[in-house]
Amino acid sequence: MHGYFAVDIGGTKVELGVGDEAGRLLATARLETAALGDGEAAVERMARALRELRRTAAPEVEPLAVGIGSPGPLDLERGELGRLANLRGWDGLPIVRLFRTALGLPVYLANDATAAALAEWRWGAGAGTTDMVYVTVSTGVGAGIVSGGRLVEGRDGNAGEIGHVVVDPDGHPCHCGNRGCLETVASGTAIAREAERRRRESPLLTAYAGPLDAARVFEAAQAGDPVAGAVVRRAAETLGWAVGLFANLYNPERVVFGGGVAQQGEALLGPVRRAARRFGMPALVGRLQVVRAALGPETGVRGALAVAMAGPRRAAPDTGPAPGRPS
Ligand SMILES: [Zn+2]
Repeated sequence: MHGYFAVDIGGTKVELGVGDEAGRLLATARLETAALGDGEAAVERMARALRELRRTAAPEVEPLAVGIGSPGPLDLERGELGRLANLRGWDGLPIVRLFRTALGLPVYLANDATAAALAEWRWGAGAGTTDMVYVTVSTGVGAGIVSGGRLVEGRDGNAGEIGHVVVDPDGHPCHCGNRGCLETVASGTAIAREAERRRRESPLLTAYAGPLDAARVFEAAQAGDPVAGAVVRRAAETLGWAVGLFANLYNPERVVFGGGVAQQGEALLGPVRRAARRFGMPALVGRLQVVRAALGPETGVRGALAVAMAGPRRAAPDTGPAPGRPS
């Protein structure tokens, strides 16, 4: 039977998958990103691992295409990665061409948040809508946008980079080169760092052993700790501001929150909704649903699978072949 290969690239791990035509994952494998080496060698290893995964776990699948979800920024037209925060040896990697050569299949690339949005839209908490925004909150913050039943990707595939909108010009330096980006305030990493900075003001946070993570900070906030409460409130308000912004720009029916920090559920989404009502236009945020993602830890690889299944997503130019576009 026909199926697809999926590749979800992350700073610490790469998830590989083989899926069927209905979008079910039949087999998955995980590789350590750091162990893959620099760009071209890394693609060779990933391609070999995909072939091996199919041979051992899903030999009945005849793959039709490869879908890749990668952190941005990307150059979608050239099929290249940009300067990735945690993958220095992969700068400018022509990943689409390399995978196409290695596997002899059409290869489709998308920003990882866009890929996750596509999966949540097809199979998860965004199903049934024509207008939705997916926001992921984990070590960073990103978003994918579906408007009028289509993905909004922008010229290079980088639309939805809400995590790198500056919300505090005097804030922390961000790995993107700017200062005070939204993700320096509202990501899991930012929540942990800010709580760590103010740890000594709080007997509860001081009593915890080891470094703080976002889950610990939420736990302390739920227990009534004022320092943890303030850190969580600021993060949630900033995310609520982003929801208000998306509401006014795209008028979505639903905003879906995924990523590790969204697992906090109502402890995050309650204050996010309240802030969204404060920052968005009442007519637009009044009927907006803010909900948790449904797909869980497989969202990344299901997103890459959805990208493979979606096939070519951009219209061909009027004249000449599009560079980097799969043939
Ligand atoms: Zn930034």
